[in-house]
Amino acid sequence: MNYYTLIESLIGRIELSNQEIQKYENYKKGREGEDKFISILKSINHVEYIYNLQLKNNQYYQYDFIVITDKVIYQFEIKNYYGAYEFKDGNLIGQNGFIIKYPSAQLERNEYYLEHIITKLNIQRIVKSYLVFTNDKFTLSGDTNDDLFILPTQIKKINQLIQNNEPQNNYLIKTTLQTLHDPFEDEFNQYPIYKFENVKPGIRCTYCMNIIERSLENKQKMITCHNCYTTVSRKELILKTLEELLCIKGAPFTMREARKWCNGVHRNTLLYIMKGHFKVKLKNKTKVYY
Ligand SMILES: [Zn+2]
Repeated sequence: MNYYTLIESLIGRIELSNQEIQKYENYKKGREGEDKFISILKSINHVEYIYNLQLKNNQYYQYDFIVITDKVIYQFEIKNYYGAYEFKDGNLIGQNGFIIKYPSAQLERNEYYLEHIITKLNIQRIVKSYLVFTNDKFTLSGDTNDDLFILPTQIKKINQLIQNNEPQNNYLIKTTLQTLHDPFEDEFNQYPIYKFENVKPGIRCTYCMNIIERSLENKQKMITCHNCYTTVSRKELILKTLEELLCIKGAPFTMREARKWCNGVHRNTLLYIMKGHFKVKLKNKTKVYY
């Protein structure tokens, strides 16, 4: 189970530490940048890429994006920082004094290992790495001529880099590298300890994360959150709540549990929504969903 999906599901339902919330917030900001990059890649026709490749030998290597092209395998490391930064003596220095030390070191370390792998596999490509800044509110001054950065204003450069005239070869390289994926990131996360019985049920606004206390009226297709006034479809709210239930329980759930979590929404409505999104099986003669 993904650590951040679990934390997100638990927000407002159990007491989480500030550290856990902060870690989740950082993840969410990073994820925004990555999602933006994914949409850029998807706007390009026929591109072979791997998102979040994790490799292990006796050390750990994590690659945000690997893009396979005709001559080059690109490593793109995504940063969603915002505000004014200066690049000086190899460090990124934020206006608020926040320093990111030698961002290129991490890239080089990753690049070195990737080169080692492709040589070993006899893949005929060179490796090139970029640090991509995706946030429109990010600016960089100083020695920015370095061919290491792609700034928000240069994001179209990515289209130029990607050549895919050998789609079959590139696809083959992608699948070969994918087989090496050996996820380790979740091993480092300290999962919160809780008892399922003590977790607060309820439908939660997908926007502000507040639990909607009152029950949903049957005929309303759209529900307005009483906290942030965002309007979300009833179906979407219920589906998200059931996904959270499954994630938090960590095991298939019953109709009784589903109804409790959805503030008593009618079973027919739940069945209708669950159809196509969950599988069903029998456990001790009771239907459970997963
Ligand atoms: Zn809300």
